[in-house]
Amino acid sequence: MAKTPITVAHGDGIGPEIMDATLRILEAAGAELEIDTIEIGEKVYLAGNPAGIEPRAFESLRRTKVFLKAPITTPQGGGYKSLNVTVRKTFGLYANVRPCVSYHPFVETKHPVMDVVIVRENEEDVYGGIEYRQTGQVTQCLKLISRPGTEKIVRYAFEYARRNNRRKVTCFTKDNIMKITDGLFHKIFEEIAPEYPDIENEHWIVDIGAAKLADTPENFDVVVLPNLYGDVLSDVAAQIAGSVGLAGSANIGDSIAMFEAIHGSAPRRAGQNLANPSGLFLGGVLMLVHIGQTEVAERAHNAWLTTLEEGIHTYDIYKEGVSREKMGTREFAEAVISRVGQKPETLKAVSYRAGKGGSESSVSAAKTNDAAEKKETVGVDVYLDWTEGSPDQLGAAVSKLNGDGLRLSAISNRGVKVWPDGHTETFCSDHWRCRFVSEAKGGAVRHAQIAQLLARVAEAGFDFIKTENLCDFDGQAGYSHAQE
Ligand code: NAD
Repeated sequence: MAKTPITVAHGDGIGPEIMDATLRILEAAGAELEIDTIEIGEKVYLAGNPAGIEPRAFESLRRTKVFLKAPITTPQGGGYKSLNVTVRKTFGLYANVRPCVSYHPFVETKHPVMDVVIVRENEEDVYGGIEYRQTGQVTQCLKLISRPGTEKIVRYAFEYARRNNRRKVTCFTKDNIMKITDGLFHKIFEEIAPEYPDIENEHWIVDIGAAKLADTPENFDVVVLPNLYGDVLSDVAAQIAGSVGLAGSANIGDSIAMFEAIHGSAPRRAGQNLANPSGLFLGGVLMLVHIGQTEVAERAHNAWLTTLEEGIHTYDIYKEGVSREKMGTREFAEAVISRVGQKPETLKAVSYRAGKGGSESSVSAAKTNDAAEKKETVGVDVYLDWTEGSPDQLGAAVSKLNGDGLRLSAISNRGVKVWPDGHTETFCSDHWRCRFVSEAKGGAVRHAQIAQLLARVAEAGFDFIKTENLCDFDGQAGYSHAQE
């Protein structure tokens, strides 16, 4: 077999130890890897590189397209950018795939039957990091959900399910509240699901869905989520399966993919030959499947399962009465290596059929909905920073700015309508949304009208923070209404 070039980073803390153990097992199982080692993490940050990754690393990743990465330590203090976010965004790693499996009765868990794969959207949602302090009292974070981004991740989840003989894909959103953003994610899930009639699909509101996932994970199979819910619930899922120390993950893009453990660099355990290499090792197994070395992946994974069920455990999962031997990082790796070729008896052996299974991206071209929709601006929300009185006083003052075809229709504060006819009990912050619409019912509004309105707002001495255009798409409102 020809060697596959991969980029490897040994990271910080326990990183170097668990990477050595991982590579030793993979190679003993027959992996054919041509390794290009790069520097990332603390040393690189402290040498003055705020992204924590040396420039040469990007060339290496562009060449190999496969990154096996140990955890790093992000130095305390400001100015350091998250390395993971940099790599994810630079290379468009849009899918985070995290299998969460319980190894009952060999690793303690309340959920003996659990085999869930979390597929998390990795680029959008509130993770754009687009935030503003808008007034003395109010801050804002922008949540962006796009049609192409969502189509890609939802299709990826169904393709993953099909390749891995999974029976069901579940989607979680909060579209009863966020009807436009989470509503789009849910809508696209409903659009794409029928293309996969062999796979069951369901949707839960994320709160009750999360509760069910934590309570009865055996009822879930593949779960696809927007970024924030996925971030939170993938840790919950890994933890309830047994241990965050036992989960690996894949970050998949159209051309480049990154594989890692889900835990951090555990600096207090570093250099003591104590750490469990299993999370990174399982990331390595995902990588082998990704690069098509499926038989090797299967051999390595089954040897690891055999070791686990023989009670050979590192300190973090060692339990008197269940475990047989407590091993250090190196000895655990040797124990796995000596079992290459064996299959577990109690735990289910894995099978990665050649050409199937795994995490590769097969949704390179997202099918976007190109049908031209008619977009029409029908109003504008002007946000004000204002502390000088009651909603009725603001309503009276801002109504005076009506004209040129625009009129104030409502004022809301933190999403609740406070003018006209507000309730005196409603708490008002210093952050006001003044909604202007066309005087002609349903009429279009031109940019020039908005610019002139803003000139009148400024002239009247108001501190406007921002505007949001109100647009209809094929006659459907593309904006939310305030809570009455
Ligand atoms: P952590 O995951 O490093 O450690 C949490 C706990 O789990 C600790 O008690 C640790 O001893 C234990 N643990 C973690 N992995 C283990 C393993 N393989 N074997 C045995 N025990 C293990 O989280 P933290 O302490 O919050 O973070 C430490 C550092 O790691 C921070 O600098 C953080 O920024 C960084 N971090 C990096 C990544 C990454 O590179 N992907 C992810 C998370 C955290």
